[in-house]
Amino acid sequence: MLDLVTGFVLFSAAVATVMAVLLYVWLRNRRHYGSLFWAAAFASLAAGSLLIGARGQIADPLSIHLGNALMLLGFALLLAGIASVNREPLRLVFLLPLGIWLVGMAAPQFAGSVAFRMVLYHEAALVAYALMAWSLWRSRRRSPARLMLFYLSCASVATSAVIIAAVVLWPPEDFLTYRLGPYVLIAGTMALMGTVLVGGRLLNEDADVTLTVLAETDDLTGVLNRRGVTRRFAALRHAAGQPLVGVLMFDLDHFKRINDAHGHAVGDQALVHFAAVARAQLRDGDIFGRLGGEEFCAILAVSSAGEAVAVAERIQSALKAVPLVTAAGHVGVTVSTGVCVEPAGGATLEALLTAADAAMYRAKSRGRDCIVADVARASRDLRRAAG
Ligand code: GH3
Ligand code: MG
Ligand code: MG
Repeated sequence: MLDLVTGFVLFSAAVATVMAVLLYVWLRNRRHYGSLFWAAAFASLAAGSLLIGARGQIADPLSIHLGNALMLLGFALLLAGIASVNREPLRLVFLLPLGIWLVGMAAPQFAGSVAFRMVLYHEAALVAYALMAWSLWRSRRRSPARLMLFYLSCASVATSAVIIAAVVLWPPEDFLTYRLGPYVLIAGTMALMGTVLVGGRLLNEDADVTLTVLAETDDLTGVLNRRGVTRRFAALRHAAGQPLVGVLMFDLDHFKRINDAHGHAVGDQALVHFAAVARAQLRDGDIFGRLGGEEFCAILAVSSAGEAVAVAERIQSALKAVPLVTAAGHVGVTVSTGVCVEPAGGATLEALLTAADAAMYRAKSRGRDCIVADVARASRDLRRAAG
């Protein structure tokens, strides 16, 4: 039969190994707080199970009170890690399982009973798994690892309930010689190790997503960079459900003068300002990115050329309506916009950008701060398709 002490020590060693891996993952990508929370969670779980396993060799309060408290603090950190990968705030409720344990153990008439402590601990664990299932369920993000972890959390809630029922039906006299002890340890360990393994996949998935996002984002403005625009374009073409695709090419007017007059930092502020103003005028599914320097583009699925031009007009008026206030005072920012519209699925991104760029240059030569649309090609192609 499995010896409980060995069981806890082995569990502790396994968890400590995972902790080391997660710490390594976090060191390589320090923005990835999910890994850090989970590394801390496993440190707490490893320390907790080591203390519980040392029962009889160290003072009881250390083994019982602190050991279990560290295990449940580990659960709070697991919940924090999940919140972090879901980009959600940390909540006080994550400490509820630990709170249940501390409050229960504050009653000395019960705290002396092994059965009471086991029920109390597994109740707290049940609440922790339920919180885990709940936070995975209500997150708007969906992925295979999330779904797997959700089912696993539900299974762990059930496992905890079975353990509680077993301890109530066959109460233990003593912790280390309890005949159901090994089964409880195995069931509890399986629930937790399952969470660890699938959680690792979730963190990995999330770290990959984080790296992709970084590679496709413009550092200064936070909008897509050229690579990001190209990637999104393929998706827009297939999912749009609109007959046309409109490309808006923006180039800030006399940007060099802004830099020269107020300095490069104010120039940077103007870029951030324009990106925010334009982004606010677009819908969620639209693509908006910085192609380089002071050139931006928007790509939209539209039902008519007029719709694309209307968006360009909206952005132009918004830019006039929202002044850029800097330490150097008000800075006037205007933009020249070229619009081109093509049947969806027809032209390549290269061709669309070239056409919109040509229209934008016509706007520059017409005196800037205006919009020029090249929509003839779209209507010609649509007519050809219809006829
Ligand atoms: P036009 O109206 O014809 O577009 O004139 P312009 O001055 O806006 O255009 P030009 O292409 O001559 O100059 C663009 C300037 O943008 C030159 C470059 O130094 C500046 N620039 C490019 N990237 C950045 C950046 O990230 N930050 C700042 N502050 N300036 C940048
Ligand atoms: Mg330019
Ligand atoms: Mg310019």
